[in-house]
Amino acid sequence: MLQVKNISFSYSKNAVLNNISFEVKQGEHLAIIGESGSGKSTLLKILYGEYDLNQGAIYWNNSQILGPKFNLVIGYDFMKYVAQEFDLMPYTTVEENIGTFLSNFFPEEKALRTQELIKVVELENYAQTKVKLLSGGQKQRVALARALAKQPEILLLDEPFSHIDNFKKQSLRRKVFKFLKEKNITCIVATHDKEDVLGFADNMMVLHDHNIMAHNTPNVLFKHPKTPLIASFFGEFNIINNTIVYAHQLIVINDTTHLKATVKQCYFKGTYYLVEALLNQDTIFFQSHAPLKIASDVFLEIKE
Ligand code: ADP
Ligand code: MG
Repeated sequence: MLQVKNISFSYSKNAVLNNISFEVKQGEHLAIIGESGSGKSTLLKILYGEYDLNQGAIYWNNSQILGPKFNLVIGYDFMKYVAQEFDLMPYTTVEENIGTFLSNFFPEEKALRTQELIKVVELENYAQTKVKLLSGGQKQRVALARALAKQPEILLLDEPFSHIDNFKKQSLRRKVFKFLKEKNITCIVATHDKEDVLGFADNMMVLHDHNIMAHNTPNVLFKHPKTPLIASFFGEFNIINNTIVYAHQLIVINDTTHLKATVKQCYFKGTYYLVEALLNQDTIFFQSHAPLKIASDVFLEIKE
């Protein structure tokens, strides 16, 4: 289990985290979300032991994670970290990069493990390609596979799919997170993408204003977003009568006794249209199956 106890951290005078505590169980998948600059990357680096804390302590089971002041070599065998900027060996092949940390004393096992990981990150056709010839997204996949090679107990991922195109992203995500669950690897992912969270994370933590704004299951936070910030992570929303209402919760109905809104804009979203409308003086968003005429009036019902 990872235990983070009352930690505070600042870059010289710039305070980033203030008195933060949380726990992550073995095999659990925790997503860390928050606006850009909220300290997600800093928190991962702290967990990795890259910085010294101003206050507090971090433990993985019985080992304390210490910063550079107390630990000559940054990092621990039980932990791997894939940064937003990954560093690979550009002049060697994908296969060699992934195998770097595997022992040459067991060549068959090394080859098998490398092949398994190449499949997880879908780079079968690039095994013999030199890394410098790969695209940003392909390099990110090599970095992921490399971090997984030695099967760490805990894996820290910073925006792991940010460079990967939409064609690959969905299946890659499923494969990587399935692999982690199968191997019972604890995983902490910093992300701004709800697709990295919904369907994969056991828990999610929202960083805001140096603190933890919320820490719960994605299900609870999606259904009961306590703040507009949390709701905005999941999608378009409105505040109607002081209540957060997602765009998909507003339904167009044929009943003139309901909320009356005037259509301003209609955006095609594939499986629905996102409609921007005026309700009293406020701009609101709702979803519609059919496109709606600009300046027409509609009646809306709030669905729980
Ligand atoms: P996030 O990953 O959530 O976007 P970061 O952890 O990168 O946020 O940054 C948190 C805050 O710390 C920001 O205000 C950022 O400008 C600052 N910061 C990040 N890295 C450094 C650094 N090496 N030195 C000084 N300030 C930094
Ligand atoms: Mg970051």
